[in-house]
Amino acid sequence: MADYQLIIIGGCLSGLAAGIRAARFGQNILILEQHSLPGGLNSWYFRHGHLLETGLHAMTNFAPVGDKRAPLNRLFRQLKLSRKRFVTREQFGSEIIFPDHRLRFSNDLSLLVQEIAREFPASGQGFLRLVKEMETYDPFAPAPWRSAREYLSERLADPLLENMLLLPLMVYGNAEEQDMDLGQFAIMFRALFLEGFFRPEETIREFLGLLIDQFREFGGEIRFKTEVAEIVHDQSRVQGLRLQGGEFLTADRVLSTVGLPGTAALTDWPLEQKRYTGRMSFVETISLLPESRRHDLSRDRTILFYSHSNSWQYQRPEELIDPSWGVICFPENFQGIKAKKTFQLRVTNAANYDQWRQLDSGAYKKEKERCFKESTEMVAKIVGNYAQDVVYQDSFTPLTIERFTGKGAGAVYGSPIKIKDGRTPWENLFIAGTDQGYLGIVGAMLSGVTIVNQHLLG
Ligand SMILES: Cc1cc2nc3c(=O)[nH]c(=O)nc-3n(C[C@H](O)[C@H](O)[C@H](O)COP(=O)(O)OP(=O)(O)OC[C@H]3O[C@@H](n4cnc5c(N)ncnc54)[C@H](O)[C@@H]3O)c2cc1C
Repeated sequence: MADYQLIIIGGCLSGLAAGIRAARFGQNILILEQHSLPGGLNSWYFRHGHLLETGLHAMTNFAPVGDKRAPLNRLFRQLKLSRKRFVTREQFGSEIIFPDHRLRFSNDLSLLVQEIAREFPASGQGFLRLVKEMETYDPFAPAPWRSAREYLSERLADPLLENMLLLPLMVYGNAEEQDMDLGQFAIMFRALFLEGFFRPEETIREFLGLLIDQFREFGGEIRFKTEVAEIVHDQSRVQGLRLQGGEFLTADRVLSTVGLPGTAALTDWPLEQKRYTGRMSFVETISLLPESRRHDLSRDRTILFYSHSNSWQYQRPEELIDPSWGVICFPENFQGIKAKKTFQLRVTNAANYDQWRQLDSGAYKKEKERCFKESTEMVAKIVGNYAQDVVYQDSFTPLTIERFTGKGAGAVYGSPIKIKDGRTPWENLFIAGTDQGYLGIVGAMLSGVTIVNQHLLG
């Protein structure tokens, strides 16, 4: 008999959700996480007495408690967690800002509909048709890759509006450059525009704590600081996992959340690394500022998606970062979040992994400071100057993302090619998380649950 019925590699959001779902049905399950904390890309750390979240701008797919069919509520049911007791705080409202136009949106779609009708009157009807199609589109039905840009231009015929709608959807979940698959577009369109942003009342630490408690309650076991070194297999089946340090654990089934290149590196899966390693990565800067500046800098918006050029391109920059476009997030600007002495202003800019990798440690530190300055100047053109008021500032680069999550090249959204059925060449090894196709916090959890339901309950 194997040591475990199921071993999950990764104590991240997809791994924990998959673990709860399978443990709920009585399976003997072990989660292995290389770090001392759970969460993967979405974890936390302490600096200067502040708990800082690594990845939480907002959770997507908001749904009120009573909406039984909504993905968020289905997810909670599948994990046997009380949705009523999980207090959600909805966004104030967000904005897409380009040089000549601005579009506000909230968790009420009618605001975006009105904004488009005012700013792009010729595209108003086309946008309404698009919404209807997206409401019923099945992004997981087997279908060849289809260009979201072409789809949009057939319906809206306005390249500027297309760019404005694509910026948030791409920067929050597209592993490809320039264009995105229509299925991925549909997932993101629903998650951001039809359902919307919220955050838990507390931090990601409490949310992850809730998941771990539930997993343990169902009998699951989790080991931190335990890195998997090899997935041991023959031609058709996996036998078990070799850990760093040499220990060998056997399992009937293995679920990997470490992405396609990461899983290939643990096996001898001949994946063409270059095609499966995403090129999009980011620098994330967190600034703490005095609460007295929150209102005038944010103008009570939650997230600003900006581009200083109408001909915006979603691509890896040639330089270390491209501050000409990005995301500005105010994580305190959610309804009912209590004010503290300071607030956070987070900025995300596209970055070039290879450029960061070439720097020695002295140059790396200097360039981080220079990039912060450059990014702050560009952001100041949108929100006003704030550099002089920063109480504390920290930033992470593609190298930080790679180091802490094992995501090759710091590719936050994983491989540009997704394996939607979660299967691998081995009949008892499966993939969940980012490279299965769902993205973000709620997406990663839905992915874990979906793969367990499809392959791991029988
Ligand atoms: C800066 C930033 C901001 C973000 N903002 C948001 C946001 O606002 N909203 C949102 O919804 N999403 C956001 N995301 C994206 C979100 O965090 C991810 O989509 C999601 O967390 C991915 O989860 P995952 O389960 O696929 O895997 P990952 O988080 O990639 O986790 C993989 C796990 O596997 C572990 N691992 C890797 N190799 C091994 C090994 N050999 N042995 C054992 N363990 C291993 C890693 O340590 C990690 O825990 C953000 C991400 C970043 C980086």
